[in-house]
Amino acid sequence: MSFQQTINGYFGEFGGAFIPELLHANVAELEKNYRQIMETPDFKSEFDALLKDYVGRPSPLYLAKRLSEIKGAQIYLKREDLNHTGAHKINNTIGQILLAERLGKKRIIAETGAGQHGVATATVCALKGLECIVYMGETDIRRQAPNVARMKMLGAKVVPATSGSKTLKDATNEAIRDWINNPEDTYYIIGSVVGPHPYPEMVMRLQSVISQEMKLQLLSHTGRENPDYVIACVGGGSNAAGTFYHYLDDERVKLVAVEAAGLGLNSGHSAATTHLGRKGIIHGSMTLLMQTTDGQIEEPYSISAGLDYPGIGPLHAHLFESKRAQFLYATDQQALDAAFELAKLEGIICALESAHALAALNQLPLKQNDIVAVCLSGRGDKDLETYMKQMESNEQN
Ligand SMILES: *Cc1c(COP(=O)(O)O)cnc(C)c1O
Repeated sequence: MSFQQTINGYFGEFGGAFIPELLHANVAELEKNYRQIMETPDFKSEFDALLKDYVGRPSPLYLAKRLSEIKGAQIYLKREDLNHTGAHKINNTIGQILLAERLGKKRIIAETGAGQHGVATATVCALKGLECIVYMGETDIRRQAPNVARMKMLGAKVVPATSGSKTLKDATNEAIRDWINNPEDTYYIIGSVVGPHPYPEMVMRLQSVISQEMKLQLLSHTGRENPDYVIACVGGGSNAAGTFYHYLDDERVKLVAVEAAGLGLNSGHSAATTHLGRKGIIHGSMTLLMQTTDGQIEEPYSISAGLDYPGIGPLHAHLFESKRAQFLYATDQQALDAAFELAKLEGIICALESAHALAALNQLPLKQNDIVAVCLSGRGDKDLETYMKQMESNEQN
């Protein structure tokens, strides 16, 4: 059995499409057409050309020499932070805007947490001249002001979500509500490997370009395609899905997913879904999610808005249950420390999300000859304010 595709929309016992009646036609249309469209020469050539000339792919695979010395292994960084708009999210939005265009949809909606997916969606809508509405939690609007400004400058309308913790989960609820009200002309660009089938599988395939490039790059750097470890942070799980994809069915490669443990795994302020969650339905799919004993979704917390989500994509729930991937976690403080360490050692200021993946390097039994590939999912510009606060508090202590 392969982890690379669903069987009837399921990864093991996770996935499916748990959606209201009003969305059935819309989701069925996508399910019926997406594979076929993605396999047409016309789609492939436009997708590849945009990834190359617009996004700037292939993103480099960089041997971080000074970091390697300190961690005691050969550490390679997959530089998704160098993509246009600053993260891996653009790979997915380019693919989905090409699909939306071919399905004849004129109005695009999206949800966003850190604002990276919102920016990536507003970007491709500008590129294609399509209307763009982005739902974003009020809390996130406040802590990610530069990304809100970017979306507006790109011509998108940013609508605040004011329920719950006013973060990603709540923005997603609002986007789904919009979609139910406008099923005919609207295409919903989901930003991660979450949501009803076929989104998780589709987004995984669009992000799989990360490991496709990585294999070739590792071969030319090291003489072998397969690293010993592949590490990625997990919010919904799209950068991890893309980074794992071409290694999923090769048991020699150890897959390491890193979740956000916020103020501590059992502090009540965390977003480490596999460690704290149980099986349940969120945003249209059966997966693992953080919930109270009576099934209410728990408010997640992480210092990084991109990881602040109470669920996880169904692929990852399956990777966790089947033990194909190892799930670690990093706290806010461990992520901050990893981000400052990378900046000082390598001259790279990464996103707080990606810093969670780096923090896992301290938790693995690495050996000198081990080849370790870490997905550096995004750049740190959006997190500068958080980094500034950390430096201020260090100076006071
Ligand atoms: C959104 C985001 C993430 C988390 O999303 P995934 O779907 O889990 O990849 C991670 N890193 C960055 C930089 C992001 O913007």
